Amino acid sequence: MEPSNKYRQYDLHCHSTASDGELTPVELVKHAVECGVDVLALTDHDVTDGLSAAAEEARRHDLEFISGVEISANWNGNLIHIVGLNFDVENSQLQDGLAGLREQRTERAAEMARLLTKAGMPGSLEGAQSFSSGQILSRTHFAQFLLQAGHIKTMQEAFDRYIGAGKPAYVAAEWTSLKQAVDWITAAGGQAVIAHPGRYKLSATKLRQLIEAFKAAGGKGLEVISGKQDINMTRNLADYIIRYQLFASVGSDYHGPSQVWRNMGKMPTIPKGCQPIWNLWA
Ligand code: AMP
Ligand code: MN
Ligand code: MN
Ligand code: MN
Repeated sequence: MEPSNKYRQYDLHCHSTASDGELTPVELVKHAVECGVDVLALTDHDVTDGLSAAAEEARRHDLEFISGVEISANWNGNLIHIVGLNFDVENSQLQDGLAGLREQRTERAAEMARLLTKAGMPGSLEGAQSFSSGQILSRTHFAQFLLQAGHIKTMQEAFDRYIGAGKPAYVAAEWTSLKQAVDWITAAGGQAVIAHPGRYKLSATKLRQLIEAFKAAGGKGLEVISGKQDINMTRNLADYIIRYQLFASVGSDYHGPSQVWRNMGKMPTIPKGCQPIWNLWA
């Protein structure tokens, strides 16, 4: 049989205004179509509110839409993002879990605002809220406020000076365990994937331990390609996928037009020897 010469473009990680993205779910789907994406998952932080509007818009185009979410989890004191794909959005175990994470976000935001006030930057809770149109507050919204108020010159500076891990206004939360995050996704019939494994600043040993713990918890895949990523990291992750019999996922982690370095579409192909996660959906 002739192999199809049309390579399908997958983007299984991006954000809308339901979390900390800049485009509404409908605008995001239109953008994905313009970028040549064929299969899209919307993966907002700890919330699935954008999925129904995105799915409806996708039906107006030649775009296959997959349900998604990006869960904030805690592994050995590290904030790790677990992407869930292709699950039943109505599942109550998953939805109850996400609701708990959103409560923690609300508490964390109040504490962050208190610390920012102490550091001479008052009004950040209301300020961050003015940038959020969904039901969650993200550090992105705080960074947008700090930028607008003139406390910083770039979004990156907010994380480097104030709200990044270990900085004066960083508030560590419990979130949920790696195992629990995987269980919620699995209970809802989906697949759990470690988001951007190369971005946690873990040593090689710790990254391997994370992947082993994730595999033992029932996790299915790694994002072998995420946004802009070093080719050596891609090779390293491909080796882990093969060694631990995991599946490969691909996502831009697109957040909107002001993040020009991480657009949608034109993702590198999955390294040889890696099974794509969508083989599980066939
Ligand atoms: P949160 O989930 O509220 O802890 O916020 C994390 C979000 O902040 C990530 O999903 C990114 O969208 C954003 N973020 C993290 N680090 C940076 C950075 N250095 N520059 C810009 N945005 C960042
Ligand atoms: Mn984000
Ligand atoms: Mn993430
Ligand atoms: Mn993301």
